[in-house]
Amino acid sequence: MSGAKVLVVEDEGLVALSLQRKLQSFGYEVPAVVSSGEEAVRQALESEPDLILMDIMLDGGIDGVDAAGRIRSEIDVPIVYLTAYSDHATVERAKATEPFGYLIKPFEERELFTTIEMALCRHTAHKKVSESRKWLYTTLRSIGDAVITTDTEGSVTFLNPVAEELTGWSHDEAVGLAIDEIFKLVSESSSTRLVSPVHRALRDSTVVKLDDGVLLQSRDSRECPIDDSAAPIKDDRGHLLGCVLVFRDVSEKRAMEGELRQHRDHLRELVEEQTRELIVARDLAEAASRARSAFLANMSHEIRTPLTGVIGMAELLHTTNLDQKQERYAELLLNAGQTLLAIINDILDFSKIDAGKLKLSTVPFSPSKLASELVALVQPQAQKKSLELRVEVDESLPAVLMGDPVRLKQILMNLLMNAVKFTERGRVDLIISKVKNEPESMILSFEVADTGIGIPAEAQGRIFESFEQAETSTFRKYGGTGLGLAISHKLVELMGGKLRLESTPGEGSRFWFDLDLSRQAR
Ligand code: ADP
Repeated sequence: MSGAKVLVVEDEGLVALSLQRKLQSFGYEVPAVVSSGEEAVRQALESEPDLILMDIMLDGGIDGVDAAGRIRSEIDVPIVYLTAYSDHATVERAKATEPFGYLIKPFEERELFTTIEMALCRHTAHKKVSESRKWLYTTLRSIGDAVITTDTEGSVTFLNPVAEELTGWSHDEAVGLAIDEIFKLVSESSSTRLVSPVHRALRDSTVVKLDDGVLLQSRDSRECPIDDSAAPIKDDRGHLLGCVLVFRDVSEKRAMEGELRQHRDHLRELVEEQTRELIVARDLAEAASRARSAFLANMSHEIRTPLTGVIGMAELLHTTNLDQKQERYAELLLNAGQTLLAIINDILDFSKIDAGKLKLSTVPFSPSKLASELVALVQPQAQKKSLELRVEVDESLPAVLMGDPVRLKQILMNLLMNAVKFTERGRVDLIISKVKNEPESMILSFEVADTGIGIPAEAQGRIFESFEQAETSTFRKYGGTGLGLAISHKLVELMGGKLRLESTPGEGSRFWFDLDLSRQAR
């Protein structure tokens, strides 16, 4: 190691001089040459050399061995003795200072060189080992887990501070004791003593983990739950050197888990309770809705029977000889009866659909014929208000398709009547067109458009709900129950379509829906 600083301690002036020359010729630096033990100590501490060549017999009060001892207690520097003495006592004393070499005078130049080089090299290696040992020691002392190591017999060799705290044994007291003496485990459930995992780890040479529910009993009989593992320590070649136990206090973790479990249980109870309440509420609501539908259906039916009687009688009355006033009264009676019947029919329909009792039929019908029937029905009303009624039916439509013409007519009739009702000027359109040809069916679009008062945006969302009208003033001005669109919407849905609406207040409205109608009876 050229450039290394070598301190020379030699009391014979000539020898010292020649040594210094030789060392310099090898490429070493010689910071000082001293002749007494005291001077050697002072100079070593001051110049911190990489190596000291130390004579044993020296001037002054202390000899080379004493000086070496003092130096080594202060700094880590390798010392090579250079002496004429090789008697047993001197060698023994020298050994106690852990020298890195012992050269007996006279020696060869090459011998001096190799001894110094070997000492420097060994010292570097030594330093590395002791540094890594220190690092390991500090690490083990600072980690949060408790660590205990044992030799192959299970005797304790090391304890870190956390392990000291948990076991109640200090490192110095514990070292050398059998692991079972300081690391006592009991089962939490049965309070019986458990075998330390160290023995199994040593015997089987594998990592052993503790089961849950293990308590560590400390020296002063405190008990704390731990989790732990024992692993064999092996050298590079796989030879067993001992065992390392790593464990930690899990009482806090346990407490937290317990709390968490409690919260979870509480939450689950709450959810279950609410679910039960919701189920009860839902059942009640369903029962109420069924009862309401049944009541409406019954009532409508009960009212309809006498009402048709009233209407029939009013019609008959009409054909008898009446004076003008009586005739007007009879007509009003008839009109009122028919309006009432229409409302009752709506309610009956609605409650039937609501209760899921309405069944659609699937029969052959002609779309164009349906359109002309509708026109015939609506035309008189449109004419009364001088509205243009336009009908557009795609000419390429098949003569017959399958569906429920009665209900389809009801839907379109309702839309057309509304269109006429809510339009003062302009026109009402009925458009039936082809959207798409499917192999066995055809998708048709049905549309009713008007140039009427339109529907405000905020009312459009709820217009298909029952008993909803766009504005409260509508009822006063136009009458109606707000059931027509709700029924139409549901009927379209039953037919597999969706009734849609586009409307601009003051400009008009457009209602439309698509239906997939099969071409032939299935
Ligand atoms: P009804 O007409 O018996 O009140 P509907 O369900 O058929 O019940 O219609 C609900 C409401 O929707 C109507 O009161 C009206 O406010 C609005 N409405 C329906 N069709 C139109 C339309 N073509 N133009 C403007 N408003 C309409």
